[in-house]
This record gives sequence, structure tokens and C-alpha cells, in this order.
Amino acid sequence: SAMRETRTKKTKTVCTFCGVGCTFEVWTKDRHILKIEPSEDAPVNSISTCIKGKFGWDFVNSDQRLTTPLIRRGDTFVEATWEEALSLVARRLGELRDTYGGNALGFVSSSKTTNEEAYLMQKLARQVFETNNVDNCSRYCQSPATDGLLSTVGYGGDSGTIKDIASAGLVIIIGANPTEGHPVLATRVKRAKKLHGQKLIVSDLRRHEMAERSDIYLHPRQGTDFVWLTAVAKYMIDQGWQDESFISARVNGYEDYLQFLQPYTLEYASNITGISIAQLEETARLIHEADGTCVLWGMGVTQNIAGSHTSAAISNLLLVTGNYGRPGAGAYPLRGHNNVQGACDMGTLPQWLPGYQHVSNDVARAHFEKAYGVSISPKPGYTNIEMLKAVEAGKLKGMYLMGEDMAWVDSNSLHVHEMLSELEFFVVQDVFFTKTAQFADVILPACPSLEKDGTFTNTERRIQRLYQALEPLGDAKPDWQIIQEIANRLGASWNYSHPGEIMDEIASLAPVFSGVSYKRLEGWNSQVWPVLPDGTDEPLLYLERFNFPDGKARFSMVDYVAPVEFPPEFDLVVNNGRMLEHFHEGNMTNKSKGIQYKVPDVFVEVPPALAQERGVKDGTMVRLVSPYGAIKLRALVTDRVQGMELYVPMHSVSHENAINILTGNAVDVRTQTPAYKQTKVRMEILAEI
Ligand code: SF4
Repeated sequence: SAMRETRTKKTKTVCTFCGVGCTFEVWTKDRHILKIEPSEDAPVNSISTCIKGKFGWDFVNSDQRLTTPLIRRGDTFVEATWEEALSLVARRLGELRDTYGGNALGFVSSSKTTNEEAYLMQKLARQVFETNNVDNCSRYCQSPATDGLLSTVGYGGDSGTIKDIASAGLVIIIGANPTEGHPVLATRVKRAKKLHGQKLIVSDLRRHEMAERSDIYLHPRQGTDFVWLTAVAKYMIDQGWQDESFISARVNGYEDYLQFLQPYTLEYASNITGISIAQLEETARLIHEADGTCVLWGMGVTQNIAGSHTSAAISNLLLVTGNYGRPGAGAYPLRGHNNVQGACDMGTLPQWLPGYQHVSNDVARAHFEKAYGVSISPKPGYTNIEMLKAVEAGKLKGMYLMGEDMAWVDSNSLHVHEMLSELEFFVVQDVFFTKTAQFADVILPACPSLEKDGTFTNTERRIQRLYQALEPLGDAKPDWQIIQEIANRLGASWNYSHPGEIMDEIASLAPVFSGVSYKRLEGWNSQVWPVLPDGTDEPLLYLERFNFPDGKARFSMVDYVAPVEFPPEFDLVVNNGRMLEHFHEGNMTNKSKGIQYKVPDVFVEVPPALAQERGVKDGTMVRLVSPYGAIKLRALVTDRVQGMELYVPMHSVSHENAINILTGNAVDVRTQTPAYKQTKVRMEILAEI
């Protein structure tokens, strides 16, 4: 009826469950989510969505939502008013600042909150506390990819759009499982293969669905992708398959690079990686024959001690073969969370001001110092990892963390728990009472995306608007309002009445966003940064120049770093990753009834031969023990895994059985991203089914 029609509201929103950036309308009536309706106008996904985007939203009405501020009283929490909670936060953070200095505080932003909220978190750190100690959870996943690209081509983002990937002659996927992690993007690749014979190479420990579909499936030893990538680059040059004119016109350091490549023969690579020489030759041949190669990679590359180096090696291979600056070619790190890209773009990074302006850059810093009315240190602050080390060293006393479950997703969680309990004052702002919240002194209830306005930036650098569909639940508030309240209680005079005003400020301070505005982002419109003042954007990077002063790219020449060694009793590699149905650690999707029904538990995949040798069957309860901790779970015998390799999904139902009890302290040598993938365990059998 007409009555009913008027009460149903349709609101355009951006999906929060992965970096693909699908947009659709959400139909709501009061707090009921009636349906998700995609549209042909959606720039990334058109009429497609995956199970999470379509059915994953009932967590917003979960009775486990935080709806009021909480303050610690001994071992429990009591409900508080906003006034009480915010004054306490401002007073204690202010006292720590005044006693120990701003550098005694750490600020952790989120890759799930909006760009505007991330921007305010870094502004709070840099203006109100005069510290660069601000980071975001891309430290746990994609920082190495950003680093590898910044050092070779100059922008830390995908070089083209998801549509471009579909037009490539060859797609190479390394250490990523897009079918489950980036479903709509995966369907684009599958369709391109079917429609125009696009070739596919997959390098992964696990023979996942994309690997099954590939023309070549490479199974390197854990942590050795760098070696085969570099050897294939050398082999292609030896065959005369390099793009000589591209290299001479657009890349610096070729002569040195040729020298650097000398040791990386196919024989050497085959020895280190376990991949046959024939497969490596075949890989090189496919790249040579393809009209355009795109390389997509994920955490199987980045969460290793050589994660940055390997990301740079991918970029080197693309440079050698002239695969930048044209459609159907380029580098595609696959961002995991919906706003990993945006969180980094907004300068919630200890060495970068918004728009990747380095803190040591005097001109950029002066610009911000003038706008913020404070002095900013030219020295990078602490990463998330360094923050915890600084707690251990007695240098970091307080933390303010937004939308990030550090106690569950950082590696070696038992140690993380210890460090978080050492803090003198700890503020956690989230939608749920997370594992991390258990360590807080004050917990502030925030709004999920459906309850707020703002923008997210997807994996292809596309900035998209989300509109508020629901009123905040209980007393929850949008993150940007909470940060503003805290800043103003500490002497700032921020006066934002809408996120659009925050975006205007971002555009005025970061040249790559200079032409971004809410007006230009209205409805289904989007802008792909860098955006010129007149609003022209740049979906395909590097057409004319790379992002360095001389416009030329650079080869990265860093040596191979071999994987972490473990004592021999830890004989099994335990890989981990995402499942289609679950989002990351599971805080949101565990509270979605439909998803819980389908995938209620976590498990460990065991290869058939190993299972037989050790007497493990489907459903056998096993205990995995690493040098850092132990977890119990059921075995699933499957040939998706092989050799001495296991696989555990990264979501878990209880913290006690979470993968990060097992992961260790080793980190990527350049960015300190934990080497989650370099985890070894021994397996004990607990009981038959
Ligand atoms: Fe959401 Fe990613 Fe699925 Fe799209 S592919 S609906 S962005 S989870």
C-alpha cells in the first residue's frame, strides 16, 4: 500500500565487508533491513554482490551492540553517560600528555571507519597531542604492498581499476584467494577467462578455487615468492622478452638491476621455491605472450618477513615487461577491509601526513603546521607494533583505539594481552565489546556504517559516498563526532557539523584529493584519486609519468630474506586466511544469524597423506602448538592443502581458539607487518570424532 511504501526508506551505501567497494541501496523500515538492492549505476559491482554484502548486515541490530559508554570499575564495567565518559577520557589522556609528553600516547585508527573519521584521528594525534604516533590496522595486512609500490612506482595503491583487470591478457594472483576474500572481483576474472580466454596463473600454498581454474598453479615453499618473481624477470631479460623502449624511457637504474639479477637463475629459484624450472619457463612465456599482465596479491605475500621486498619484486617484473600505464596491466594489491586504502590515504600512518606527504617533507609539514597551529615532528612516530614495544619499555602510557580488535588480530595475542593490560589508560571505541575492549578503561559505543554519513575508498582508489540509513542504536555515536568531542575537551575548537566539511579540509591539505568534494560524489558518483582541483580523476595511473620528481619508476634492488626458522619439533607450516562467509576475525559476521548457521565453527585443513600418516580423520579433534601458544580445533581432511602444510581460517568463534594465539613476533623487515604466514606448529591428536 501507499502507506507502507512511504515508510520504506532506500539509502545508498558502500559495503563494509571487503576492499572491492560494492555499492547498493539498502531498503529499511525503522531498524529492519528489508533488502539489499544493487544497481546498474554502481561503478564497481553493477548488479552483483556476494553473500556478505547481501546478507551480512543483521549485526547492526545485534543485542550485543554497545549502546552506552562504559567505564571500568575494578574488574567490571559500569554504564556511564557520554558526559562522564568523555570527561574522563579527556582528563586522563590530558594528564598523560602533560606529565609524559604527547609521544607517550598512541592512536590506532580503523580501516573500517570512514575517511573523514580516519582523518580526524590523525588530526587529534598530530594537533592535540603533537605526536606522529598514529597508525591503522593496515599495519597487519597491506603496509608491505604500499611500501613496495611507493618505492618503485610512487603511489601506494592499485594502478588501475577492477574493470581494467578484466581486460588483461593474463592475470597472476599471488597469495590471495579472491573467490572468498574479494568475491565480486573474482567473478570479473572468471568471466574474463570464459569470455575472452584470459590466462590465469596462481601462486599459493593452497589449491583454492582460483588455483583450480588456473592455467598454471605454482606451489612455492612458504615465503619464497620473491625468488621466483625475480628469477622470472631475469629469465625474461635473458630471452630478450623485456620491454626495452619502456624501460629506457620510463625506468631508472636498469644497468644496476641487471647486475642485481645475476644470482637469480631458474635453477636457484627452483631450489629455493620447489617450483619446477619448466613451470617457471612456462610462467615467463605466458607473461611474454600476454597482451597486458595484471598482478593481484594479498596477505600470502605481505604477511611475511619479506613482504615489502616481494611486493617490490612484483612491481619490478611489471616494469621489466612494460606492464604499467596502460589498460589491462599493472599492480593490484587487494585491500582486505573496505577502507584500508582510505585509512592510509588519510595519514593515519606514523610517517605520512594525509595524501602520502612524508613527515620529513618540510614544505608539506609547514602546510599542516599552519593549518593546525602546532609544530609537527619531522620524525615518524610509532607503528602499532612499536606502540606495544614502547609499552613494554615503559615509554607509552596511554592509547586511544578505534574500530580495531588488536587483542584478537595482532600476532602473538597472548603477549598483546599482557601489553594492553600494562597501559595506564586505554580507550576503546567500537561497535561491539571486542576482545580488546576487555582491557579498556573506557569503552565508547560507535556506529557502524549504516548509521552514518561519509566516504570509503576501495582497493582501486575509488572514493564513494555512503549515506545514513539508520538512526544510531541506543546512545551510540558516529566516530567522527566522538573524536571531535574529545579534541574539543582537550582545548581544540573543531566545529564540524557534517563529514562533508571534514572532506573539504582534507581536499585543502592533500594535493591528491584537491578536487574531491561531496558535491562531486553525490549518489552513485565516485572519484578515483589523484583528483585535480577541477575534479578530473585518474583511474589509470602512470599513463605519462610515475610519481617521482623525474617522472621515472625505479627498480627495487633488495636481497631475498629467507623465512623464519623454527625448532624442528614445529614441523608443520600453518597458513591462514579468509573464508567467503566470514569477515576477518569474525566480530561482525559471528553476529549475523544467516552466516552463523552456514559456518558456525572454525577448523584446520589437513592434507590427505599427512592425515593418513598421523591417523587424523575428518572431525578428529587436534591441538596445534606453536612456540607462542596452543589452540584446539577439528580437522578437515582435504587436498586443497599438501605436503607438510595446514590451513586455518582467520575467523574464530572464541578467542581461545584463534589463529593468533599461534602466530609469532617476526615482522616484515621494512614495515613491521607481522609475518603471520610464517607460523609453524606441531599437531597433537586429542580424540577421535
Ligand atoms: Fe561486499 Fe566485497 Fe562482497 Fe562486494 S565483494 S558485496 S564489497 S564483501
